[in-house]
Amino acid sequence: MTTVQKQEQMYEGKAKKVFRTDDPNIYWIQYKDSATAFNGEKKAEIDNKGILNNRISALFFQYLEKQGVPTHFVELLNDREMLVKSLEIIPVEVVARNIVAGSLAKRIGQPEGTVLAKPVLEFYYKDDALGDPMINEFHIAALEWATPEQMDAIKAIALKVNEILKEFMDTLNIDLVDFKLEFGLHNGTVLLGDEISPDTCRFWDKDTKEKLDKDRFRRDLGGLEEAYREILRRLESKLKD
Ligand code: UDP
Repeated sequence: MTTVQKQEQMYEGKAKKVFRTDDPNIYWIQYKDSATAFNGEKKAEIDNKGILNNRISALFFQYLEKQGVPTHFVELLNDREMLVKSLEIIPVEVVARNIVAGSLAKRIGQPEGTVLAKPVLEFYYKDDALGDPMINEFHIAALEWATPEQMDAIKAIALKVNEILKEFMDTLNIDLVDFKLEFGLHNGTVLLGDEISPDTCRFWDKDTKEKLDKDRFRRDLGGLEEAYREILRRLESKLKD
């Protein structure tokens, strides 16, 4: 049970608001129904998306914590809100991929669905005004966005999260195609932050190949709320206790 008090809003992003609390070690996150794609050019409000992503993220973070992954997750508060450890965000988005899709399919001219022989990690500079350009570890070190030691921790956590979630999603009859992670520092320690949800992952049903993620919005396929609800239903069916 929480004892902290919500204080002023610190930040409003595309999908979440972050509030301070009376405890400097804890932030209060609220998930919104806003959906955006193509660097904010395409926008919509999707009923219940914030509720679904809050619950889905909480389940993923709890599952990962149980397997020893250090995350910012503290506690699910209600439908739309969770408590997290306060992070100084590292301005690097980390994408992990198992199957070719999205921007990688375009960049290398390979069809979506091509299975990669091993996981691929990519790094992007987190800057909306620049459209999150792709960068590499030389840029990250030279611009001092993270130290080489912090990058070692980030890569190890990203690959571990990939192994854990790929195996787990497999049991839900879902292919984990790719996903994006963000990291931050909490009292100097690297923690996994942000969210893990169908907004930030690609999930394909193994049998039907149906997309159960934000590509339904990006590609105007419809049925986004139903797809996110289906992800939550399958997660809860495995994690109910
Ligand atoms: N992704 C994300 N936020 C971003 C960019 C990508 O959550 O700003 C996720 C996306 O949902 C997918 C993975 O990262 O699961 C890889 O995305 P990709 O590079 O293929 O870009 P996209 O096709 O989304 O432009």
